[in-house]
Amino acid sequence: MTDLRHELEKYADVVCDVPLSKLTTLRIGGIARYVVYPENLLSLEGILKTVEAYHLPYKLIGKGSNLLCSDEVFEGVIIRLDKHFNQFYIDGTTLVAEAGCSIITLSVEAMRNGLSGLEFASGIPATVGGVTFMNAGAYKSAMSEVIESVSVLRDGKMEWISNEECEFAYRSSIFQKHPDWIILGVRLQLKEGDKEEIRQLMESRKERRMASQPLDKASAGSIFRNPEEVPAWELIEGIGYRGKRIGGAQVSEKHVNFIVNEDHASAKDFLQLIEEIQAKVKEKYQIDLVMEVEKFNWQ
Ligand SMILES: Cc1cc2nc3c(=O)[nH]c(=O)nc-3n(C[C@H](O)[C@H](O)[C@H](O)COP(=O)(O)OP(=O)(O)OC[C@H]3O[C@@H](n4cnc5c(N)ncnc54)[C@H](O)[C@@H]3O)c2cc1C
Repeated sequence: MTDLRHELEKYADVVCDVPLSKLTTLRIGGIARYVVYPENLLSLEGILKTVEAYHLPYKLIGKGSNLLCSDEVFEGVIIRLDKHFNQFYIDGTTLVAEAGCSIITLSVEAMRNGLSGLEFASGIPATVGGVTFMNAGAYKSAMSEVIESVSVLRDGKMEWISNEECEFAYRSSIFQKHPDWIILGVRLQLKEGDKEEIRQLMESRKERRMASQPLDKASAGSIFRNPEEVPAWELIEGIGYRGKRIGGAQVSEKHVNFIVNEDHASAKDFLQLIEEIQAKVKEKYQIDLVMEVEKFNWQ
């Protein structure tokens, strides 16, 4: 394994034995053997070549704000783009950004340039790669409405693919079907707007989030996708699970579709609470609650 570290270091900064709890907003997860920070495409390609030669799994992690990592060791390579792939430029109403950019930073920059379209994303603690992968959204808007095309590294080639090719749907995209593809950047199409109006909209959204979400606690945002028939929170409320706690994991009192890491929760506590909610909702309403948060490194 030291050979592997040596190999990876040819291409990027490498940190060994990093707790995934430090790379995720839930603050849960076992050790990741290798975390790498490629500087550019050449370095990323070198890393991919190395993991292939060593037959190791790899995983892109943005801000880790949608991940429930198991407590086990991840014997593979975590690739993070947020350190170096964070350049962007604005040309008229087009915003082109690398995958490691913070979507909050981009929302603010868009506002400063009098560009409207990213107001909904100004409170999502995520990278451009992560919001594209998830087609993240809020307040009836989603990334798919502003993405014109996506730069992707697939089968060893970098290509721009169109919005249509991304197969965006509610919290879903083609990238979820191809976990080996790497999103390198996006081209967004925004609209000219009044800077002050955009700023005020962002401010009111922020206030709404602060009033309705447990932002002072470790979480991964909404745990479940909203079924077509009824919002997930109504179902969780309906089974009487507001405040329900297993170990250190607790259904938020403030927003029942959030489960917070109240006190050193283990991944198992978390999953047990999630599965209990799914079973009770199924029993009472005959509805399958599907997780929005992604399980990573579970056997
Ligand atoms: C307080 C809070 C509020 C939230 N509010 C919202 C909200 O309003 N709306 C919403 O939709 N979500 C929300 N979320 C959830 C989360 O922020 C989103 O799902 C976001 O899209 C995840 O982005 P990330 O960069 O953290 O990705 P991660 O959680 O790190 O990764 C998510 C997935 O994307 C993949 N991925 C990341 N980068 C790349 C890349 N470059 N190439 C290929 N795959 C990649 C990862 O491998 C993983 O499968 C919230 C979360 C929190 C903690």
